Amino acid sequence: MKSIKLLLCLLAMLCPLIGQSQSKLKVATRVVEPFVMQDGSRLKGFSVDLWKAITDKMGVQSEFVMEPTVVGLLDAVKTHKAEVGISAISISAERDKDFDFSQPMFDSGLQIMVRDQQSGSEVGQIWDRIVASGIFRWLAVIFVIGIIPAHIVWLVEHRSDRCLLQHKKYWPGIFEAYWWSLSCLATQAEEMPKSGWGRAVAVFWMFTAVVFIAFFTAQVTASVTVEQLHGSISSADDLPGKKVATTSGSTAATYLREHHAKVTEVSTIDAAADSLENGDVDAVVFDAPVLQYFVANQGKNRFRTVGEIFQKEYYGIVFMPNSPYRKPIETALLSLKEDGTYQEIYDKWFSSKS
Ligand code: GLU
Repeated sequence: MKSIKLLLCLLAMLCPLIGQSQSKLKVATRVVEPFVMQDGSRLKGFSVDLWKAITDKMGVQSEFVMEPTVVGLLDAVKTHKAEVGISAISISAERDKDFDFSQPMFDSGLQIMVRDQQSGSEVGQIWDRIVASGIFRWLAVIFVIGIIPAHIVWLVEHRSDRCLLQHKKYWPGIFEAYWWSLSCLATQAEEMPKSGWGRAVAVFWMFTAVVFIAFFTAQVTASVTVEQLHGSISSADDLPGKKVATTSGSTAATYLREHHAKVTEVSTIDAAADSLENGDVDAVVFDAPVLQYFVANQGKNRFRTVGEIFQKEYYGIVFMPNSPYRKPIETALLSLKEDGTYQEIYDKWFSSKS
């Protein structure tokens, strides 16, 4: 009897808690700054503020379900892990086959982000590429190898009277012979060895020099050409064939594949920016407001956006078809637009001072 009473007491204590957690609307989201941002254990951002205003208007409580990618977010809604999804979700015809969307909650579109190369002039950039191509290592190697023909020439020449060298002793003689060896390399030698062996070495060394000069010229030309190719992304027309990073499953990834870019899909914009900084990709393509925010904050002086917004998109709140939540959420969103709350939230996150 006592234990039944205890059980009833326990149930009475738990019931409100169970009731409360059941009444909480589950909303799937993912971090896409400045729409959803993690601030310790709290979330903030445009979409977070808008969602709070919507739920306040509806008088309901909700809890966020965090997902790592937009595909994960949509799956959470599809598998009923969450009733609603909000973040920076683009409304697309493809997604509309499986989901319902609210009225557009934000005007967006795609844009391109590249490395900020303002720091150097064009000549400076070409120079950097020549240095990066490793050509100076080869130059160092050939300068060291040049010591060998210098020695052979000194050995075979220094004994005879009619010879290339004015100094017969080792150190001054070898310096003279090395000067000859380097002049040959630049095809500028004024005099040639006089002995038979000396001439044989000269022919071999001159041939090596011609091959090296051809190789050197090819490397420098390639560096300049690559710079022109890499540096030429300034609009969406330049994207086909280029290596571009974006987030997995995004509408940007679909656009890039359709336009024959070589797409690298990563989970965050930070990871995409890292690939861009390392030179693994030539550009990042993603939602314009996200890139503009990134360029003004974490990516300041390292990245910049180029070109116009080239693919208009709208963000929406996502539901399963025939969701009972759609109508009240839609009504709340419309009244927030009418009473100025939407504008306040917009200004908080996107006014020029932020
Ligand atoms: N607007 C993008 C999309 O829906 C965001 C993608 C993302 O969250 O990574 O596809």
